Amino acid sequence: MNFLSLIEAKRDGGRHSPAEVAWIIGELVAGRLPDYQVAAWLMAVFFRGLDRDELTPLTLAMRDSGEGLEFPDDSRPLVDKHSTGGVGDKVSLPLAPLLASLGFRVPMISGRALGITGGTLDKLESIPGFSTQLTRDQIVGQVQAIGVAMAGQTERMVPADRILYALRDATGTVPNLSLITASILSKKLAESLDALVLDVKFGRAAFMKTRAEAQRLAETMEQLAGDCGVPTRAILSDMNCPLGSAVGNWLEVKESVDCLSGGGPGDLRELVLACAAHLIEMTGQATSLANSRRIAEVALDSGAALAKWEQLLEAQGTRMDEYRQMLRRESIAAVTLEITAESAGRLCDIDGHRIGVVLRDHGAGRLNQGAVIRPEVGLDQICLLNAAVSRGAIMARVHAGGPEEAGAMVAKLQSAFILEK
Ligand code: URA
Repeated sequence: MNFLSLIEAKRDGGRHSPAEVAWIIGELVAGRLPDYQVAAWLMAVFFRGLDRDELTPLTLAMRDSGEGLEFPDDSRPLVDKHSTGGVGDKVSLPLAPLLASLGFRVPMISGRALGITGGTLDKLESIPGFSTQLTRDQIVGQVQAIGVAMAGQTERMVPADRILYALRDATGTVPNLSLITASILSKKLAESLDALVLDVKFGRAAFMKTRAEAQRLAETMEQLAGDCGVPTRAILSDMNCPLGSAVGNWLEVKESVDCLSGGGPGDLRELVLACAAHLIEMTGQATSLANSRRIAEVALDSGAALAKWEQLLEAQGTRMDEYRQMLRRESIAAVTLEITAESAGRLCDIDGHRIGVVLRDHGAGRLNQGAVIRPEVGLDQICLLNAAVSRGAIMARVHAGGPEEAGAMVAKLQSAFILEK
């Protein structure tokens, strides 16, 4: 086989055979395909798509491109959740310890910020001392011991996705149904799960812009994962506005701790409960979704989920005194500055995409692969959608490195808050 012919075939709308797909992934991981050709192939796939008979072998070849996670037999179900990515989406942080506090095993392998969407690993790394680089044995050992680990892919786990993910980010080929499906499921199918829940986002701050596109992605992933032996349900959730009232790495950790303490914004709590309820029901731990949800509520409100979170933090190296001190501070940034309403009205829209772009540009995300994340940068106190605000009322607060940066951020973010008189 030669890669040029395969690129040309896909460019012209042809189909790859399973053997061709397996060859591409094998050559990719062996380092025998130049980036420029892989980028061209990704763009051809972006425009032409992959059908079911190409997507399944691609996902499986990616899954098998490295080592998977294997767990000893145990009565505790292995579960996980993955999101297609959003602005302010910190659901994984409260969800993983919540599930572990209920007796599940949660080997949560997470990713970094991609485009304007935040990354669980970057959020966790804003916690002093927290290590996201665990070996396969450490992940398995910790999950067996305390029920949960939150870490990045090891060097040897699903290397095909790591290579493709980086190239997609740099070539504008992320928002594609086939490529997202293969990327997410190759990682999740390598975890030996009993059940999986997927949070598929739609809206201007999501990769899938419309509900219909998200529905198609959800159905594709549910079916493919199910066919590969992992019962999977997908939830669709709105990503036009940010999730919760805080965006930015440390601020999202803080908001997650509020949620784990039984508080926090209503939309965040709802999504955490919905994901948990599906997994509880799917694994037969409760007889209905309503009962499952009540079980999850108790875990959040009783302090059980919070206690598990602290156990997780300690297990992964957190300097607990420093962490607790940080939690008590209003801000870890040098300066905060409010965004206020220029006139009275109803806050009828909050542009999650604009917020994502501005925060990424100021260091909450990455503009290039080597960029260093600034954990302190962010936005909190985001007003509730549809709230009536008076002139001068606070609609949000920026956290920045200095007065000049704070002023610039406020100027860029003012237009994200749309008031109707
Ligand atoms: N998350 C992933 O893991 N992969 C994608 O392609 C998009 C979101």
